[in-house]
Parts: sequence; C-alpha cells; structure tokens
Amino acid sequence: MARYARIIVDIPVAGLNQVYDYTVPEGLRERTRIGQVVTVPFGRRRVNGFVVGFAEKPQIEAGRVKDILKINTEEPLFDEEMLKLLKWIAAYYKSYLIKVIKTAIPTGLVSGRVGKKRIGYLKLNQPAEKTRELVKKLKKRAPKQARVLQILLESKRSYSKSKLAEMAGTSSGTVSRLLEKGYLKYVEEVEERRPVLEKDELVTRPFKPTAAQAGVIRAISGSIKEGSHKIFLLHGVTGSGKTEVYLQVIEEVLQAGKGAIVLVPEISLTPLMVRRFYSRFGDEVAVLHSNLSLGERYDEWRRLKRGDARIAIGARSAIFAPVNNLGLIILDEEHENSYKQGENPYYHAREVALKRGKILEIPVVLGSATPSVESFYWAKRGRFHYLELPERINQDKLPPVKIIDMREELKKGNTSFLSHDLERAIEDSLARDEQVLIFLNRRGYANFILCRECGHVIKCQNCDISLTYHAGANHLRCHYCDFTRKVPKNCPQCGSKYIREFGIGTERVEEELSRIFPGAVIDRMDVDTTTRKGSHRKILAKLERGDTDILVGTQMIAKGHDYPNISVVGVITADTILNIPDFRSAERTFQLLTQVAGRTGRGDKAGKVIIQTYTPGHYSILAASRHDYTGFFQQEIKLREKLFYPPFAWLTNIVVQGYEESSVMVGAQKLGKFLQQYHKYIDEILGPSPAPINKLRKRFRWQLILKFRDWNLRNFVLTELEKRFLIEQQGDVVFNIDVDPLKML
Ligand code: ADP
Ligand code: ZN
Ligand code: ZN
Repeated sequence: MARYARIIVDIPVAGLNQVYDYTVPEGLRERTRIGQVVTVPFGRRRVNGFVVGFAEKPQIEAGRVKDILKINTEEPLFDEEMLKLLKWIAAYYKSYLIKVIKTAIPTGLVSGRVGKKRIGYLKLNQPAEKTRELVKKLKKRAPKQARVLQILLESKRSYSKSKLAEMAGTSSGTVSRLLEKGYLKYVEEVEERRPVLEKDELVTRPFKPTAAQAGVIRAISGSIKEGSHKIFLLHGVTGSGKTEVYLQVIEEVLQAGKGAIVLVPEISLTPLMVRRFYSRFGDEVAVLHSNLSLGERYDEWRRLKRGDARIAIGARSAIFAPVNNLGLIILDEEHENSYKQGENPYYHAREVALKRGKILEIPVVLGSATPSVESFYWAKRGRFHYLELPERINQDKLPPVKIIDMREELKKGNTSFLSHDLERAIEDSLARDEQVLIFLNRRGYANFILCRECGHVIKCQNCDISLTYHAGANHLRCHYCDFTRKVPKNCPQCGSKYIREFGIGTERVEEELSRIFPGAVIDRMDVDTTTRKGSHRKILAKLERGDTDILVGTQMIAKGHDYPNISVVGVITADTILNIPDFRSAERTFQLLTQVAGRTGRGDKAGKVIIQTYTPGHYSILAASRHDYTGFFQQEIKLREKLFYPPFAWLTNIVVQGYEESSVMVGAQKLGKFLQQYHKYIDEILGPSPAPINKLRKRFRWQLILKFRDWNLRNFVLTELEKRFLIEQQGDVVFNIDVDPLKML
C-alpha cells in the first residue's frame, strides 16, 4: 500500500479543491481506502477529510508531511468510479469537490452523527435465583429498585430504560443505579428505519407489452445486454405505457444481476409511481428523498450499498445512489426543472446521469411526454436514440382541448375569472358525478396589492417582489423569502385608503368556486395546503376515493395522477408562465398545459380540457391544444437558433450578490472588465446589469450572462475566471456561477 494519501479536507476556505498529502501510518496502511472519512491535523486543528487518492511521493517535502490520525468510516462512502463522477461535476459546474461530495453523500454519513440506530435494552445481569434474593434485600431500603427487578423477573423480557422506569412508576435514575451496581445489563440491537410508504399488498405482474412497448423494450434491453452506453429518449404521451416499460427493463437488469436508478422529479408528487415499483419489486426498492429523516436516508442508502436493495428511486440526488453493479439509469419526466439544483453545485441530474452512464458503460433512458427542447434536438441529431410510444394504451384518445379567449369573454360582459364554457363544463361534470381539476399556477388569494391613487405596489422588504395576499392567513407574504406582514389599511406611500388586491390565486379560485357550486366538495393542493408531512397523500387519496368533486391546484396537480373519473380539466389562465421574461417560457407553458391536459380522458369517460388565455394565438398554447409536440418543437427550435439560445448556445449565468448595492455594482463591473480580455472567445455577453429580480433576501443582485457556441471555449474561459479572478474575490460580494442555468431571474 502507498505511504501517502491524498486528502480533501472538510473546511470552508478558499482554494477548496486543493488536495493535501498525509502519511498513512504503518498501522493503517492495510486499511486505508479511497472514499473513507479520516481525521487529519490541519494547522492547529483536527479536521475531517476524504481520501481521494494515494501517492508514493508527497507534493511537499517528506519531513513536513503529517500523519493521518484516524479512520472515521471504515467502509468507504464512494468508490473510484463515483469519485471520477464527483470530480467531473466539480470541474464542469465550477464548484468545489468537497461541496460536491457533501451533496452526493447523505449528511449523517459524512458527519458521522447519524449511525445505525441501536436500541438499548435492559436485562437482568444475574441468575433469577440471585436476583430474587436481592429483591428481598432491597425491598425495605430501596423499594423502587426492587420493583424494577421484580418486573424483569416476572416478565422474562427486556425493556428500554424509559419503558422500564415507567412500568415501575419511577425515574430512569433508579434504573441507572441498578445498572451501575451491575444488577442489570445493557444490550443493543440494530433497528432498521424504513420510510413508511403505502405498499400495495397485491404484487403486480408484468403486462404483455403492446407492439410499441415491445419494440422499445427490445432496444433498451439490447443495450443492457451489451453493456453499452447508449442514451435513449423515450417519448410517449401520458398513459402510453412508459412506466410499464421501465418496470420490464428493470426486471431484466435484476435478472442480469445488476441494479438500477430511477429518478423522478419529486417523490411526494409521484406516490403512484413509487407504489408501482414497490408492488412489482418489493424490498428490492429503496427510496431516497429529502423528506426522509436523516436516519431513514442513512438506512436506505446502506441497504443499497450492501446490495440488499438493488433499485434506487428518488429525486435529483438519487443519481448518486450507491447501487451495486449499476446497470441502468432512468430519468422519468426528463424535462422537469427540479432536476437542476438551485444552489452550488448547480448540477443537472440529467447531465450527471449521462456522465455516470458513460463512466460505467451503461444505458440511460430519458422519458417524457414533452421532452425538453434540448433532448429532442439531440435525438434528432442522433446523439440520443429516439424511441416513441405514440399512443395511449387501450387506444384511449387524448382529450379534445378548447381554447377560450378571455378578452372576448370580457367584451361579452363576463368579468368573472370563469368563462361560460368552463362554468358549464364543471356544472355538467358535477351533474354526472364526475370530477374536475382546476389548474392555476399561482397560489394565494390575490397576486398583489395596488394603490389606485398613486399606483404603489406593496413589496417585500427583503426582495424586489410584490407581496401576495393570503386570505386564510389574512396577511401578505413573499413567495421567495416567506416574509409576512399584515394588510395595511392605507397606502404606505401616499396614505390613500383606496388600496385593492389584484390578480387571482388558487385560494381565491377555491373560494369563488364554492360560491358558484355550493353543493360541491372542493379541495385545494398547493404549497400552502401541503406543508405537513403526508398532506399530499391525503388530498390525493380523497380525490381517488371520489370524495372530492373539484380539485384546485398549482402545477402540483399536473403530475402523474391517473384517475379515470376526472372528466374536465380547466386552466384558469395559461399566460402566467408565458409572461415570465425567460427564453424557456414558451417551452414551460407547452409542457405544463400538455401535462395538465393529460390528466383526463383515461378509462371510458370522455374527457374535456378547457384552456383560458389572453393570448390564444401563441404557438405554445395552440400546439398544446392539439397535443402537437412536433409542431411546437419546430417553431421553438427556429427561435432558439435565431436568438442564439440552447441547444445552439452554451449559457452561463454569473450572479453577483451582496448587501451593499454599490459594492455589488462595482463587483459586477470588475467582473465584466475581466471578461473583456476574453471577448474573442465569448460569442455574446449580456450585462453586467441588474438581475430581473434585483433584490432577494436582502441581497442585491447583478448578473452577467455568457453565451458560447463552443463548449471547449466556455470551459477555457470559466476555468480562467475561476483561477485568475474568483480566487482573489473575497469580502462582501459573492459570485455565483450557474453553468447551463435554467432560471435567470
Ligand atoms: P405512462 O407512464 O406513459 O403514463 P403507464 O405505464 O402508467 O403509462 O401506463 C398507463 C396505464 O396502462 C397504466 O394503468 C398501466 O398499468 C397500463 N398498461 C401499461 N402497459 C400495459 C400493457 N402492455 N397492457 C395493458 N395495460 C398496460
Ligand atoms: Zn421576500
Ligand atoms: Zn398610494
């Protein structure tokens, strides 16, 4: 074994990617491995570090190299292939390896704070005979102690300390004393924490694949058998049988003695998906997501590591799951924004999946009803293999979609947020005892409060964002930082009392619908109604039982629920996203509308979709109403090319933030000036300029967007930036580099 180990230390200092050499002491030489957490001296402190390599010769003078003090985790937390992936992420996203490692590995494992859950039990430490004598002796002097022993004698069982104290009607101090005297002994057992998920008792069997499914399965399993890295884009409308394909190819993966990772956008929104995996594969499935307790995560992670579970299902970070002998990665709904992390490291799980697939030489399947423009483009260009499931199972038809021009409604004198058509459709549906979904991508009651006298809009004191009115809580709230304040009676600017709420959110839709349809049971699903654990599930279960007539909600209701009794889907306004100043707004609008529309028309009921909008002619809305992905793509890709946006440009957004507006501006300008030296490599620089959201959580924000035609040139410029500019920037201004940004507000 090598004499020196390369260690990345876990401390927040500049130059975090610096690797330090330490001597591996004789006694540890056989045991030290890549991926272990070790304790090392650093300056005058002792810190944790990760072993990332070995060397025969140290980078510095051998005499100055210090010793590794101890190995904290005997079992490595990552192997060499994983390390390669983590390093790639740090390099591609211009992040720090230590940050990436800590993103990939559950917190408890790194800190060592969460371990196996051991339950302590107390038992008698002496034979029953001796204990009986002891009880007699203690009865007078220490009756409580005697009672504790008596209980153990009689029940012939062991109990936890607190339980024992409770049964004896005493404090745990009494029990401790018996322990100290050696009359009791302590035994430990490991208990496994498993997330509680609904499991169908029923074990489902694979369906006989349709001809289209069979073709798709054949293509993917060919690649599994070859052990080749191929990227498949599986394009299939909702209900076309994609999930069944996943299940069947995973079956093959297991039979080949390998494992699989399945990524879903958000676990809490896809309970049905998880349930289907459980009912097909039982305990082979481990679920990883952020709603688990640290302990649960730790144990699920360990089950995968040990090979007791071979299928990992989870949101974004499950891409790092320690599946043994990984044979396949699936990303469902690959177009979803939640796959991109919103903080450093700003990684996209799709890119990481492709890289992990490449390192391991295994196939990656990207599934979607509405693929991202980038992925579809790559499929067209042949980088991805295109697979299609063009029809719904059972020849279910996609529902007809009607577009309502809300400007015309207004002209006809209808000032309500409900068009006549949608109101009629809801009425009819309720009369037939069917269910309705109403979608609006804005929560709260009103979007903002405006003074009609002076035009002042009440904003958050921490952010450059107007406050949303929440009627239930009766306050104004910022949807970015959660700042709340009471609704003022007068305008804070001019004192006028003519202040009014404008715009409509889900809360108000719910209220007004219950006025229009007093007999209907109306429920609401959005961030405000789902803060409690399990509330998603409750709302969906109620809908599934048929106890809800109308469900109002934000994009949360757009996902994966497959309820045949929903016959009407209404979109209150399709324009909410379209109005966001972002080149992806049309794409997001098309995706969301298509997804919402897919919630009906299952089973034997004829579904109906009604989209209300103020821009009925927009191509994203028209294409969604025709379920026409290709039509949308053709329009969109032309614009992307013309305006030089992805997939034609490689974007990077550098956000400069700080509490002092003037230093942020100065910092941004300095950055702009630095980048001028490289202008011949950069195809387009936008900024530096104030970000669209100029202030967020008390910090001012400026931004600079770089556009490159060539990926290598981008990497060159960003590396220079990192090495020559960022390293020196310290103090009150922070520079965040978001590589391939999804949000640029
Ligand atoms: P998607 O994931 O594309 O929305 P699913 O896999 O959920 O589609 O399939 C839609 C419905 O059709 C599900 O209820 C599923 O159980 C059923 N299904 C899928 N494949 C088949 C098949 N080959 N034969 C019969 N039913 C199927
Ligand atoms: Zn705020
Ligand atoms: Zn005013």
